[in-house]
Amino acid sequence: MNSFIFCPRCGNKLVDRETDGRVRRACGGEGCNFVHYDNPLPVVAGIVEIEAGVVLVRSQGWPEKMFGLVTGFLERDEASADAIVREVQEELGLISTVEKLVGVYPFTMRNEVIIAYALRATGTIVLGSELADYRVVPKAKLRPWPMGTGFAVADWLGA
Ligand SMILES: [Zn+2]
Repeated sequence: MNSFIFCPRCGNKLVDRETDGRVRRACGGEGCNFVHYDNPLPVVAGIVEIEAGVVLVRSQGWPEKMFGLVTGFLERDEASADAIVREVQEELGLISTVEKLVGVYPFTMRNEVIIAYALRATGTIVLGSELADYRVVPKAKLRPWPMGTGFAVADWLGA
C-alpha cells in the first residue's frame, strides 16, 4: 500500500528517492532517513478439508460467484500455522489441524505474500462476520483459479 504522503517520523513530505537500485518513497526532510519500503504483508490461507470436500468461502462484498480460501493476517508474535488454525475457527467455526505447508506465493496485486496450508477440520460450519457465504467442493471437482490463493490449490491438487 503506497499511501503515505508525509513522513510518519518527522512529518515532512515524502519524495521519490533511489535506494538499492529501486525508486522508493522516502523522507524529503533534512537529517531524516525514513524510507517507505512498502514491504509485502504476509497473509495465511487455508485449504480446509472436511469429510464432504474443501470449504471455499465468499467474503463480504465479493461478487456472487467468487469463492476462495479462508485467509487472514497474523497477529503480532503469532506463528503462521497457529494463525490459520485461529482463522479457520473464527471464520468457519471449525476445529482444524494443519496437515502441511502447501507453499508460499507472491500476490503482487495486493502487495501480499500468501502462506498456504492444508488443514483437516471437523465440526459444524458457522460463518464469521467477515464471510457472506461458503460452499463445500469435493476434491475431485475442485478447479484452481489463476490468481492469489488459486496457485496454492493447484499445487495441493498436483495440477
Ligand atoms: Zn522524515
